[in-house]
Amino acid sequence: MPRLSAQSRLKSVLKNYYAGLQSPLAWCTSAGPTEILRALGFEVYFPENHGALLGASRLAERYIPRAHQAGYGGEICSYLTADIGAHLAGETPLTAAYGLPAVPKPDLIVYNTNQCREVAEWFNFFGRQHGCPVVGIYPPRNLEQVHAADVDQVVAQFDRLISTGEQVTGKPLDRDRLWEVTRLSFEASGLWQEVLQTARRSPAPLTFFDGTILMAPIVVMRGTQGCVEFYRQTLGELQQLVDGGRGAVPDEGIRLYWEGMPIWGRLRWFSEICAENRAAVVASTYCNSWAFKENDPDNPLRSLATAYTEIFINRGEETKLAYVQKMLDLYRIDGVIFHDAKTCFNNSNSRFGLPSRLQSASGVDTLIIDGDLNDLRFFSDGQSRTKLETFFEQLHMKMVAAQ
Ligand code: SF4
Repeated sequence: MPRLSAQSRLKSVLKNYYAGLQSPLAWCTSAGPTEILRALGFEVYFPENHGALLGASRLAERYIPRAHQAGYGGEICSYLTADIGAHLAGETPLTAAYGLPAVPKPDLIVYNTNQCREVAEWFNFFGRQHGCPVVGIYPPRNLEQVHAADVDQVVAQFDRLISTGEQVTGKPLDRDRLWEVTRLSFEASGLWQEVLQTARRSPAPLTFFDGTILMAPIVVMRGTQGCVEFYRQTLGELQQLVDGGRGAVPDEGIRLYWEGMPIWGRLRWFSEICAENRAAVVASTYCNSWAFKENDPDNPLRSLATAYTEIFINRGEETKLAYVQKMLDLYRIDGVIFHDAKTCFNNSNSRFGLPSRLQSASGVDTLIIDGDLNDLRFFSDGQSRTKLETFFEQLHMKMVAAQ
């Protein structure tokens, strides 16, 4: 039985979302301009969410070799290889989970390389498979500052996307609808951030591992009233837990930050080992990646272009360091776990010295865990357990010494 009633509600919320995926249907990256697609009249499907589902249901390893056989390498994004492999096998966990006979076919495919170039390879594969138009948004990458000229570039690309979308649907973009969808999207995003920030309190009412489950609507339903309602109710539930002093981890002792991708096939494993050691992972960069800020309410396209260009994964090293440092203060963090995901260097920030620079700047201890988002051949239970238990012990001893 789930600990939070939000987790039970999520099942029916997602079932409705999947049941509604009718044509005209667009496929989109998780930090792509879904609001524009909704305003054009598309329902929106997210292949990355499918990739995560393949990982969480531990089916990824069955399908990844199929993608290898088709020429996709063993060390490239394992969302991509799991998703393409499942397609080649003609199977999907959406059948068992939500009753869909197959992944719904796209009328338009849209990606944003704000997160990585891999999405271009991945989504173009499906464009060829389904014979539909594919539009790529290519913002400037690795930015320390996001300037007006950077946003201008993205807005111009959104204009091209709108014109392709209008050709596919045969209808002009409804500007009022874009306004409304964008407002709903930022409202849900703000609520999602408030949900995550309930974990600033000690004991934290939710952990990173809860967050990876509860984040599904902010990824796949951004811009809908249902998404806003889901997070409003979830926030109410979490606030009650905070008021009652009820934490997710019994007798919370140390507070941790997770940097990098989840290891989808080991969420429960991590959750249990943390609980056994009175360690609460109370915040993460990953879950906060969908906490967007509305910058220009009078101009939806500029607001969206700014929000999707400002995301953490698209920023320079100094900005990333400053961001994580701020999070450590905000959540009163005792230690940071960096996940070095072998098939996603884009979202693995442990390889260019960030852990040691963060440790020097903040005094907070860091640990690097080797693994992967979906490909568990890169993850060792035994080695990870030893590393984690040693790290937890070190942090507990440090806390005792400080008292
Ligand atoms: S950011 Fe990483 S996990 Fe996400 S699509 Fe790109 S390579 Fe894959």
